[in-house]
Amino acid sequence: MPSLNEIRGTFLDYFGKADHAVVPSAPLVPQNDPTLLFVNAGMVPFKNIFTGAETPAHPRAASSQKCVRAGGKHNDLDNVGYTARHHTFFEMLGNFSFGDYFKEQAIHHAWTLLTGEFKLPKEKLLVTVYHTDDEAAALWKKIAGLGDDKIIRIPTNDNFWSMGDTGPCGPCSEIFYDHGEGIPGGPPGSPDEDGDRFIEIWNLVFMQFEQLAGGERVSLPKPSIDTGMGLERIAAVLQGQHDNYDIDLFKTLIAASVELTGVKAEGAQAPSHRVIADHLRSSSFLLADGVSPSNEGRGYVLRRIMRRAMRHAYLLGAQEPLMHRLAPTLVREMGQAYPELRRAEASIVETLRQEEERFRTTLGRGMGLLDEATAKLSAGGVLDGETAFKLYDTYGFPLDLTQDAVRAKGLTVDTDGFDAAMQKQREMARANWAGSGQQGAAAAWFSIKEKVGATAFVGYETTETTGVVK
Ligand code: ATP
Ligand code: MG
Ligand code: MG
Ligand code: MG
Repeated sequence: MPSLNEIRGTFLDYFGKADHAVVPSAPLVPQNDPTLLFVNAGMVPFKNIFTGAETPAHPRAASSQKCVRAGGKHNDLDNVGYTARHHTFFEMLGNFSFGDYFKEQAIHHAWTLLTGEFKLPKEKLLVTVYHTDDEAAALWKKIAGLGDDKIIRIPTNDNFWSMGDTGPCGPCSEIFYDHGEGIPGGPPGSPDEDGDRFIEIWNLVFMQFEQLAGGERVSLPKPSIDTGMGLERIAAVLQGQHDNYDIDLFKTLIAASVELTGVKAEGAQAPSHRVIADHLRSSSFLLADGVSPSNEGRGYVLRRIMRRAMRHAYLLGAQEPLMHRLAPTLVREMGQAYPELRRAEASIVETLRQEEERFRTTLGRGMGLLDEATAKLSAGGVLDGETAFKLYDTYGFPLDLTQDAVRAKGLTVDTDGFDAAMQKQREMARANWAGSGQQGAAAAWFSIKEKVGATAFVGYETTETTGVVK
């Protein structure tokens, strides 16, 4: 059975042999796009090439790109622990053609790799195309011999990709693997497509148009290809697992957290181990790429991820900080492919430890308050905004952590009430300062607090208009 590391190698070797320049992953913090929180797709580092602003050294490339989808337009934070296929950090395998080959070659390569190299049975695969893309449908029939029932036409933007309001765009075609009848979920385009039976493994984007500012869409003289396949998802398929969290790497990470906590990864405890393993990866990779926990922007997304993991460690009854003790296992497993992890190991361990120690003192007390407040609520109930705000302001619980905590009980949080409580507290604080006779200092202090204070969570709102695969 191929390991995660071997599968990454097979993908890159295949495209290397097919004359693609194999390039290393770019860092998670985007180098060319200040509007984007984190690199969230393999094409992001090539954006300027696709728009024509830069000329590539070679017309074809392949990579395994580190991606984080936590915050911004693509936010899978709330899926982790709930679906079999989502991580906050994952690797996106991709092959790219910069005005070189197009649809036919892209479909040919994907099909050859999946059924030739990886030997997946054809009957387990099905594809989607954009509803007007007759060309792609005909090519799938010709190259893969798929019947009409296995080529599903999708009329929504799920199968039409665009870089932003203007710029390159085009239809896409997604390849799904059917994990079998035992698993709930319907085929793409059906009402229960979000289940985990039919899992999207690979997205082929055909950049054939350019969207102009006036609303007109013109054909590109040299269309391009951008593809993305989740390494962990194809690894699950190749390792005979339906669930990403049962692949070799996650088994090792979860075994380490089982050993350190003494709690089996079963029943109600299983999701906590998964969340911990997932968040350990995103936290460590973000730290290795220079993000530090803070109260705003990227640093606040990192802090939220770390604190969510720490709450799950608490749920498992961990008496001592846990995350930093798991980091060496991750570095051992992934450090060869990503040497930056090895270089940063000591600082990853230290930052995880400090953050956990810092949060620990208020975490337990906050959980006590939360238990008290939710004890009187039943499924479908709403936690009041005042309590959510107190948890945030006094105990350092990011709003999404509280939402995650109550979700397990079938509850939601009154976010309007949370906002109102925050507003009220700001006004009161302002009034107190105003009465203290130090107006000048107060004004300066408030402008600083509003800039960097605990209230600034860019993570949810940041507009990301560029560089994402649908
Ligand atoms: P899904 O519909 O399952 O959320 P997606 O359509 O959002 O996936 P794309 O944006 O098309 O995903 O990304 C390309 C590929 O990257 C997907 O086909 C999938 O294999 C993988 N992928 C996307 N999001 C995740 C994630 N959160 N964790 C792991 N792999 C992912
Ligand atoms: Mg998605
Ligand atoms: Mg999808
Ligand atoms: Mg997709």
